[in-house]
Amino acid sequence: METPESSAAGRLAVVMGRIAAAAGAAGRDAGSVRLVAVSKLQPEERIAGALDAGHRLFGENRVQEAEARWPAFRERFPDIALHLIGGLQTNKVRAAVKLFDVIETVDRPRLAAALAREFERTGRALPCFVQVNTGDEPQKGGVAPAGLDSFLDRCRTEYGLDVVGLMCIPPAEDPPGPHFAFLREAARRNGLAGLSMGMSADFETAIRFGATHVRIGSAVFGARG
Ligand SMILES: *Cc1c(COP(=O)(O)O)cnc(C)c1O
Repeated sequence: METPESSAAGRLAVVMGRIAAAAGAAGRDAGSVRLVAVSKLQPEERIAGALDAGHRLFGENRVQEAEARWPAFRERFPDIALHLIGGLQTNKVRAAVKLFDVIETVDRPRLAAALAREFERTGRALPCFVQVNTGDEPQKGGVAPAGLDSFLDRCRTEYGLDVVGLMCIPPAEDPPGPHFAFLREAARRNGLAGLSMGMSADFETAIRFGATHVRIGSAVFGARG
């Protein structure tokens, strides 16, 4: 049976409360942390529950899955904002730019170039985060830390991207704090305000380290199917 704690609205309220508490404990304004509710692989009724509760900012990691359901939600809720938080192949750039409002996973020159071309072609230039592979994990997307500053420089000067921040997914087996600290310092050094970091298991730590966007899935919607 659905209790307030198991409904999307109830879970959302609990997570918003935890975000506010973590921000307060860090001496930060609760409004300085945005919740990107990660709806990948979630049943539509849970997403509808979050929308009915007033939430409008969501994250999806696959273009095709997002294309299958967000246009219909958008008709009912035109003020939805969608972040792409998964790796983007260049052959999906056109669909991604049409559907998403922010691209969080820019991580290589070929992708930056393809995005720049599509922004130019459509006149729809989206804010971007650069994803950083803070753990240097071979299977994970993201720019290697050693190449970050020069890649950012190219994104801005060569491709003219509107880079608004950095994003990372720390290795599952590491304590996340040092990765968040690294990202914060890299953002500061490069004059970037946005820090997308922190998921269900570690968002309070991320907020302590300055996260401006926390990407939370299972704590908001329940376990994925
Ligand atoms: C799935 C996912 C999340 C959310 O994970 P939870 O542990 O369910 O909060 C956050 N960021 C990215 C990039 C993801 O793919």
